[in-house]
Amino acid sequence: MISNLIDTQLITRAKQLIEQAQTIVIVTHISPDGDAMGSSLAMRWFLQDLGKQVSVIVPNEFPAFLSWLPGAQDDVIFDKNPDAATALLDAADLVIVTDFQEPKRSGNMADWFVNHQTPNTKHHTPIIMLDHHLYPSDMADVTISYPQCASASELVYRFIHQLAIINIQSSIYNIQYSTCIYTGMMTDTGNFQFNSNNPEMYEIVAELMRAGVNKDECYDKVFNQYHEGRMRLVGYCLHTKMRIFPEHHVALIALSSNELKQFNFRSGDAEGIVNMPLQISTIYYSVFMREDTDKIKLSFRSQGDRPVNTFASDIFNGGGHKNAAGGEHYGTLREAVNLFLDNYEKYCI
Ligand code: 5GP
Ligand code: MN
Repeated sequence: MISNLIDTQLITRAKQLIEQAQTIVIVTHISPDGDAMGSSLAMRWFLQDLGKQVSVIVPNEFPAFLSWLPGAQDDVIFDKNPDAATALLDAADLVIVTDFQEPKRSGNMADWFVNHQTPNTKHHTPIIMLDHHLYPSDMADVTISYPQCASASELVYRFIHQLAIINIQSSIYNIQYSTCIYTGMMTDTGNFQFNSNNPEMYEIVAELMRAGVNKDECYDKVFNQYHEGRMRLVGYCLHTKMRIFPEHHVALIALSSNELKQFNFRSGDAEGIVNMPLQISTIYYSVFMREDTDKIKLSFRSQGDRPVNTFASDIFNGGGHKNAAGGEHYGTLREAVNLFLDNYEKYCI
């Protein structure tokens, strides 16, 4: 049995907003990962099935290894089509945000959200948040935020499951919908390696498989699609670039844009590298940083009861979950490394 995790009042309020809306826009977070894509596309399949006019907007390009997800090709990429995307947002009766909790995470859509989130103002558009990060902002009218869910996709599944109980019915357990949910659950748990001890997750997986999901194929399509440069980049990171700080059980990998260029770096190529140093028995914290076009992007991972999100938020304008967080630094790579060196002893204890 899958329990009814989501508060019934929230489900009822979301139901009203969905029923009142005809044109719905779904937005997910910048640098979309499998869960961002899975949760947003699953919502789209569900709402389309209810007869709504639905668009999904992603802030920027998604990685090639997610392009096979059902519906992904129809996503509007804000940074490529800002005018068309803004027009869609402006025309929406309802906006649903998945897998993020604050306007900043929507990239260049942040201003749109800030301008449209205040209730009872001229520009107000109702917003529903479906998310699993800590500290949701007040950007939504209905905030469905459950950090105990390992993925936003799992939360979307639960949301739709609970809507069905109060009679928002659709024939939604179709293969497209189920594949999107499964892929989000799979990627946000590293193929069920972490945050994956809730038995109900496997009841959901069983339902998705009964709907036709081929989990082995999903794994293959996501994790076995890299190009040669990415594999050599992993080798370079582990062989040459990984620095170990043994007293604090910390590993750091920092890459300049010149280094990335040598490996023909593409969106998604950094995925998973930050987790690798944790395979060393004595490493509990791992930090990965790379030079991006206008900033340094950082990823943080840790094991067990050792939070890394405070390091990310205090020092690198970021945040996230206890064991998986991210941040950014507007400055040079050297500065970001120095900030790390000045602070890791305090945050990694
Ligand atoms: P990743 O390292 O995979 O990019 O991000 C891991 C997690 O950290 C994400 O799921 C997200 O919760 C969080 N995160 C990543 N980048 C940022 C950021 O710039 N700001 C905030 N608040 N959270 C981030
Ligand atoms: Mn997620």
